[in-house]
Amino acid sequence: MIISNQPLSTSRGKLYDQVHRIVQSTPALDMHTHLYDPAFGDLLLSGIDEQLVYHYLVAETFRSSTMGYEDFWKLPRAQQADHVWSTLFQERSPISEACRGVLTSLHLLGLETGPKSLPSIRQWFKEQDRESFVSRCLEIANLRGVCMTNSPFDPEEKAVWDQSPSRDSRFQTGLRLDPLLLDWPVAGKTLADWGYEVSEDMGGTSVVSVTRFLEDWRDRIHPLYLMVSLPPDFTYPADDHTTRMLQQVILPFCRASGLPLALMIGVRRSVNPFLQLAGDGVGRADLSALQCLCAENQDVKFLSTLLSRENQHELCVLGRKFRNLHIFGCWWFTNVPSMIQEMTRMRLELLGTSFTAQHSDARVLDQVLYKWDHSRRVIADVLTDKYFDMQQTGWPLSEEIIRADVTHLLGAGFEGFCS
Ligand SMILES: [Zn+2]
Repeated sequence: MIISNQPLSTSRGKLYDQVHRIVQSTPALDMHTHLYDPAFGDLLLSGIDEQLVYHYLVAETFRSSTMGYEDFWKLPRAQQADHVWSTLFQERSPISEACRGVLTSLHLLGLETGPKSLPSIRQWFKEQDRESFVSRCLEIANLRGVCMTNSPFDPEEKAVWDQSPSRDSRFQTGLRLDPLLLDWPVAGKTLADWGYEVSEDMGGTSVVSVTRFLEDWRDRIHPLYLMVSLPPDFTYPADDHTTRMLQQVILPFCRASGLPLALMIGVRRSVNPFLQLAGDGVGRADLSALQCLCAENQDVKFLSTLLSRENQHELCVLGRKFRNLHIFGCWWFTNVPSMIQEMTRMRLELLGTSFTAQHSDARVLDQVLYKWDHSRRVIADVLTDKYFDMQQTGWPLSEEIIRADVTHLLGAGFEGFCS
């Protein structure tokens, strides 16, 4: 046996090019978005005005604009977009991640941008055929599928489901259950209106009826998973409705159906109500709730992403302890390059490749372009470092191995976990 501790003369530049090329060319499954199948009509948002009034940009606009909140919300959408453009793109450099995102999306669509380009960009979007625009965006972002966020409690969305829309197979479903867990007075009343026998105190036939409601929606939309977005002070177990709904209905349903439950924890709703949808904030969560759920229900699969940077290390450690927990994505305020870099590095170091590196959370179709472009670059940077370190020990690396790892990180690992 030849003993050598000499590092291999691997070219870092060559590895960098190879890893970036593979990460860019590997199709991803975007496992959490707020996009809709084109069959849902106007619920699928796209175009420059929708990009500009995205809540990330609205929040940033109010940092620099003196316009009254009410005055802004009273404006028609196009004028709101004008105001965002003049405030963030004309009066100063569009340097924030959300602003850069608009520029990247336009650039990837082949449009020229500058402070005076809004009218011509609008005109270009008007001329696009919707069906082909959907395909073009998914192709440029290199997405093989997109998972929607589907809420039976959204009247507009439910109205479309009620008409049995003819579906686009690229758009998959996720069943969102927030009202069931967090706003039972409203959810219970809605279920009663739909003919499910439920009572305010969840007594009588309520458990059976809510379970039947879940079964009905499972059979109707075939979700990949169930999901709920929870505040940072989410506690489990607790003497409250959320714990009872989890223990009596949701967890038994997940156990029986094999569907994972996604817990997205850390949103502090409406910290500034004047900002409307842009007014949500972040709080550090107590992860003993998630730990307890995973420990007590080892035969239930949990997906989780957390909003607070301060929770990320603890989440990785939980991931190491529970194989029924799959960690995914860099969510919302953590979906910026500095956080993606830090979180992806930490996850690779603590979990290997057993997590899903990113989801877009896109609300506007065009956003998948920038969200995936920016993320793929950072993921490839981090992977290059990790592969370089590995190669220095003499461990062999090939195109096939890198591609298999990247495929796993960009959706196949999630699919394996769900199946
Ligand atoms: Zn989301």
